Amino acid sequence: MEVVHSYLGGTRTQGSGEARRLYNPASEDVLAETRVGGYDYSAALSWARERGGPALRELTFAQRGRMLAGIAAALHAERDALIEIAIKNGGNTRGDAKFDIDGASATLAHYAELGDKLGARRILADGEMIALRSGPRWVGQHVRTPRVGVAVLVNAFNFPAWGMLEKAAAALLAGMPVLSKAATSTALLAARIADIVVESKLLPEGAFSFTAGPASPLVEVLGAQDVLAFTGSAETGARLRAAVAPGVRLNIEADSLNGAVLGPDVALGSETYEMFLRDVVREMTQKAGQKCTAIRRIFVPAPLVASVRGDLCERLGEVVVGDPALAEVKMGPLASSDQLVEARRGLAALEREARRVFGAGGRGRLLGVAEGRGYFLAPVLLETENAEKSPSVHTVEVFAPVATLLPYGGSAQEAVRLLGLGEGSLVASVYSDDDDFAAELLFGGGAHHGRLFLGNSKIAEQALGPGAVLPSLLHGGPGRAGGGQELGGLRGLELYMQCTALQGPRPLVEKLVGGHG
Ligand code: NAP
Repeated sequence: MEVVHSYLGGTRTQGSGEARRLYNPASEDVLAETRVGGYDYSAALSWARERGGPALRELTFAQRGRMLAGIAAALHAERDALIEIAIKNGGNTRGDAKFDIDGASATLAHYAELGDKLGARRILADGEMIALRSGPRWVGQHVRTPRVGVAVLVNAFNFPAWGMLEKAAAALLAGMPVLSKAATSTALLAARIADIVVESKLLPEGAFSFTAGPASPLVEVLGAQDVLAFTGSAETGARLRAAVAPGVRLNIEADSLNGAVLGPDVALGSETYEMFLRDVVREMTQKAGQKCTAIRRIFVPAPLVASVRGDLCERLGEVVVGDPALAEVKMGPLASSDQLVEARRGLAALEREARRVFGAGGRGRLLGVAEGRGYFLAPVLLETENAEKSPSVHTVEVFAPVATLLPYGGSAQEAVRLLGLGEGSLVASVYSDDDDFAAELLFGGGAHHGRLFLGNSKIAEQALGPGAVLPSLLHGGPGRAGGGQELGGLRGLELYMQCTALQGPRPLVEKLVGGHG
């Protein structure tokens, strides 16, 4: 049996003790196992702090950027093999796997380019220089320098490639060594990527560590210069808040009841309407709905609900579910038996308030799957008659191909209020050609959402939809979404750097910030 390995303290290790199994979620075949003990995290962190940190901080942004470009190229060279692992261990269709793996490469490439643009400097200026007195000599400048700890990156199971590397790209470019922890159920892909990073020898010794073991007692031993960047459920996020020592910088990317709003101006069959349908069906079924940005709540003006229901049911009926290794299959299984149990539990909670209008809540008709095998849940569309009186729909995240249709009166104020019942989301999407409607959604609802996706006929052919997280724009949301922020180009580096208000003589400040830092 393959044991998933880790890289800690410069050594490849398999851990020891009790085993946790990794499966092919379409067949339930056992693929490998991880071990829960035998990881000396304290020693691994010291090694990263003492070796990796100083070596990275010696390098300029341009040099760090070149390392990221090299890793992107090394990843791309192994793309086909990585896709196969994602299909086998993640239940991904080929399209799902590409979304994860190519997303990782694109994010690395984006940060490589930013490094190139920053050039031969090691200090980041934040904003403009400020004259501190009426004379020109004494000035202030906010600057950022790398934190001198380790960036511990705890990833969710749904994006083993992108989740791991979007965090690592920003941390490494900022000048912090990383220790990446994979989610256990899909750790095979993360471990293969760790091999590629280590074998590439592009990073200085100590800059990259990886564990397929448990997160405990890792987060408990972090110090005040370390960063903990977590992606996962709100529940685990809350546990981590309580577990880390004061001073550890913590970023939480948690769950989210993302809403899509169809504007009252949108005509059935119009380009904007088609865009809305396409995005809802994609977000429900891509990665079997296991995306933090997936649309969970679909707000539709009451007079249009019957038509939208009909159209969504028709399109969901066209989605072929089954063995993700088959080209005809458009949606695979959930990633693990635990996820299936959780999804069924969440679905049962929603069904106490909403009726099922598509799907039976079971496995559905499957292509290429042995009878009774695999962790399948076919798409389910629910509908409620009263959006205000359905609290679970706004609070229970079913991490699966499940969404709920909710009628609303058609005013922007009502849409803002209903979206807000989710208590903070990663992304909200608005489909409307009425600019005033979109503006009201932004001014009224901006505070509740990390990202606002405005879909209309002008970008219907171009936009990637609300589920695509772009490296140039912030990812993260307030409230239950965790209150964190990642990516957003150079903003993504802030988590891994200390901002210092520098005061001094203009020539020295200019010299430090201008490229010789
Ligand atoms: P999870 O159960 O919270 O696990 C996330 C990560 O935390 C895994 O690596 C897990 O390791 C680790 N972990 C579990 N218990 C821990 C503890 N007590 N201390 C420290 N680490 C611990 O979440 P998941 O099931 O993997 O992912 C699904 C959730 O993630 C969904 O709610 C989804 O919305 C959210 N998500 C959010 C984003 C975002 O960007 N906001 C992106 C993707 C997913 P093990 O696997 O070894 O238990």
